[in-house]
Amino acid sequence: MSRSSTAVPAVETAEQPRSTAVPAVDSRLGPPRYVLFDIDGTLIDSQGAGGAALSLALVDEFAIANPRSVPLHGQTDLGVFSRLLSLNGLDDTAENFERLSNAYFARLPQELRRRGGRVLPGVQGILAELRKIKGCHVGLLTGNLPISAQMKLEHFGLWDAFDFGIFGDLGAQRPDLSAPTIAAVNNRSGQEVPPECIIVIGDTPLDVALARAMRARCLAVCTGGFAGDELLAAGACRAVDDLSDTTDLLNWIFTQTELSR
Ligand SMILES: [Mg+2]
Repeated sequence: MSRSSTAVPAVETAEQPRSTAVPAVDSRLGPPRYVLFDIDGTLIDSQGAGGAALSLALVDEFAIANPRSVPLHGQTDLGVFSRLLSLNGLDDTAENFERLSNAYFARLPQELRRRGGRVLPGVQGILAELRKIKGCHVGLLTGNLPISAQMKLEHFGLWDAFDFGIFGDLGAQRPDLSAPTIAAVNNRSGQEVPPECIIVIGDTPLDVALARAMRARCLAVCTGGFAGDELLAAGACRAVDDLSDTTDLLNWIFTQTELSR
């Protein structure tokens, strides 16, 4: 994905070879689907690289010896950075936000390399299959800022799997991303997309809350530390241990339309 270019679908055509793993899944079964992935805890486990880079940024850029931290799971970086500045006695101004962001971006790649991390189970497979399906639009719906999202996904070789994205610079709370997401999907489609054709895949109750705010379907994954019961209680349509069962998940994405299992 290139953030600077106009979004051009990279999906293959129906005439191209299709994996025998998903013979029943085809855009002919229904209208196009917009499948939107969270990043941390859903696509990748960076082993805390983001939090570490943020902490280093506060130490180095603002001379905070022992920076206080805030919860990161499911939050947007716009909200996280604002709370971090205030909690560490710094003015929550646009100038300090930019200083913190730039210091964070400068330290993130080395933390990604230093900590290892991994692509979570099933991610490569489901992305590869989704991209073969005509009428399937694969996007990001993440709390990360655009630059850090790209850094993380390029590190793990996943950036090019996505056609478009909605990022954490568009709202201080995750459900605030609802309106920009609907606008991005409708813009991509050229018409109003029924909410049940939008599928949010994420690992936290806040991902679920965002999906519910849009009346979209939410597939919750338990790879980020939250239990299935917790995610279902938050309102997820379905919770799975991970994204390994590609055939089952693709059939669910393309054949179910209800906001329940
Ligand atoms: Mg996450």
